[in-house]
Amino acid sequence: MSSELKHVDPEQEQDASLPDEWGPTVLHSTKALFEVGDVFFYSVVIAIFFGSLHTYGEQFWSHILATYSKPVIILGGSFIVSQVGFWFWVSLLAILDLYQFPKSFWRYKIQPQKVPTQEWYWKALWVALQNQFFVGVPTGLLLYKLMEWRGNPIGMEFPTMLGFAKEMVGFLVIEEVGFYYGHRLLHLPRFYKRIHKQHHLFTAPIGIAAIYCHPLEHFMCNLSPLLLGPVVMKSHVLTLWLWITIAQTNAINSHCGFQLPLFPSPLGHDYHHEVFNKNYGPVGVLDWFHGTAGTREMAEEKKRIRAAAAATAAKKQQAELKQE
Ligand SMILES: [Zn+2]
Ligand SMILES: [Zn+2]
Repeated sequence: MSSELKHVDPEQEQDASLPDEWGPTVLHSTKALFEVGDVFFYSVVIAIFFGSLHTYGEQFWSHILATYSKPVIILGGSFIVSQVGFWFWVSLLAILDLYQFPKSFWRYKIQPQKVPTQEWYWKALWVALQNQFFVGVPTGLLLYKLMEWRGNPIGMEFPTMLGFAKEMVGFLVIEEVGFYYGHRLLHLPRFYKRIHKQHHLFTAPIGIAAIYCHPLEHFMCNLSPLLLGPVVMKSHVLTLWLWITIAQTNAINSHCGFQLPLFPSPLGHDYHHEVFNKNYGPVGVLDWFHGTAGTREMAEEKKRIRAAAAATAAKKQQAELKQE
């Protein structure tokens, strides 16, 4: 079992033996484009948001508008929403990673031979805080200016579930295009060494490692594709907050290292951290289009085919030698 944090060659064979005490590991076999789990999970989040918005929202929102100034609502609100959403999941995952509680969840660990340590957490914590404050806060100010320029984001029509669904299509397209191509650019050798290598330190990622990256990468790949959507779509600030919550939860889930029941599958991005050259995008459409989608099963199948071809070639060579 290895818990050392160091850059490794992805081609290197890893110790695949599983720790007995966690029981058999439970995994779905593949990562489809849109899995049932993804749709179910986010439908529940969206339904809860609009259900409570419909019941208590308008009254609560009028109170907020009457009490606070516009910059406080937009800047302060966005800061609170992103902080609460981020640290809520990261804290739960830290308990699971460091105290192995609840123990039964460890059967869902994707790479069980790599056990997160406190050292990993301290390392990721400082980088995450720096990115949140030195990159996230200035980007929030820029976002405020851009949303103001596009229209008043708190004065717009109150969001509806249908309106959100339509805007969500735009958000997903911008996120997929921005993240996929930005991420592929960062894998070019000249950028990889200077920028993206930091994010790939975790070959078996943990939730907080979602923003363990170079500040330039955090701005270019994490924040810009995420926040450009609401600017382009002229979204209400409540829509922005729901989108931030969904996208952030998804990023943490993609890095959490566990394939938990009812949660979307993190296998695609977890596999990207393991092998580096598959699954660059967050949705999967551009990976399918460019032929960069991949799973462990596909890699194992390729290995089997290569081994079989090598064995056949060796047999042929032996036969030829005998004939001579
Ligand atoms: Zn990652
Ligand atoms: Zn990468």
